[in-house]
Amino acid sequence: MIVQYRIEPCRSALNRVQGMPFEWSLNPYMGCAHRCTFCYVREFERRAERPSDDRYGRSIRVKTNVAQVLERELSRRSTPLPSVVIGAATDPYQPCEGRFKLTRACLDVFARHAQPIGIITRGPLIVRDIDVLREVARHATVSINVSIPTLDDALWRATEPGTAPPEARLKAVRALADAGLSVAVALAPLIPGISDSVPSMTAVVRAAREAGANKLWTGMLYLKPGPKEHFLATLGEVWPEEAARLARLYEGRAYLDRPLGGAPQQTLRVLRDVYPRRASAPDVMKPEPRIKTQDTEVPVAAMQLGLALM
Ligand code: SF4
Repeated sequence: MIVQYRIEPCRSALNRVQGMPFEWSLNPYMGCAHRCTFCYVREFERRAERPSDDRYGRSIRVKTNVAQVLERELSRRSTPLPSVVIGAATDPYQPCEGRFKLTRACLDVFARHAQPIGIITRGPLIVRDIDVLREVARHATVSINVSIPTLDDALWRATEPGTAPPEARLKAVRALADAGLSVAVALAPLIPGISDSVPSMTAVVRAAREAGANKLWTGMLYLKPGPKEHFLATLGEVWPEEAARLARLYEGRAYLDRPLGGAPQQTLRVLRDVYPRRASAPDVMKPEPRIKTQDTEVPVAAMQLGLALM
């Protein structure tokens, strides 16, 4: 697949977010070459009168100056923001990050400012940045979320055409956990009647815990106009009957009503206890707060050590 990269610097890096469980986000790129068929960003693209069908993800905006702008924005603040989520509207570890390294440059800035962050990704490339992620985690909360909704090869290929296989993501989870980083596996989105079955969820949870995931969460398929047409059309090419069933299920709504949409939450609650995190995984790093002195900032432990030596 040919992807066009548009070099377009940005004027602001941090975005205020509404209607999400976090207040701030940062997207080094716009558009995502992972091209998940269910991606909710397709809805925004459609509203902006840009392509939300198969053309989505073929043109990526690259914000080449995003780290410099971020540095300026964080420097103006006297205290860190609540957690900034990287990757709410694009995957910060999609393939082009290997070349442009914008996510990595932003992590360097976050480390300097002891800024708490969250990351949502399907990209195993994240392991390249373990060193700088640990730097951020020394003084701020780092919450990494790796999305793995299924281990089923056919379903992965049909719904996430541009992503790395689930096994590669599990390897990334293992590497992150082994580095002492907090890593959640997100079973999201679950497709009702397909990947929300107990056997399917059990396979993901067991593999995630074995890899060292210390958190697990789930979310159901969300189909607004834009992703809805594309998801149902592409699924219909492989499983026409399933696509027809889901079209009926989601008719006139974007999200399932309870209890149908709530059952996987209960399944996950049980599975979390049945499959604990592997015992050999190291403890998760705990951020050590910095204390401001007149000229600089020093970690609390360094100050305590200084006092002990006096
Ligand atoms: S990885 Fe995330 S942002 Fe990228 S296409 Fe998939 S759902 Fe959308």
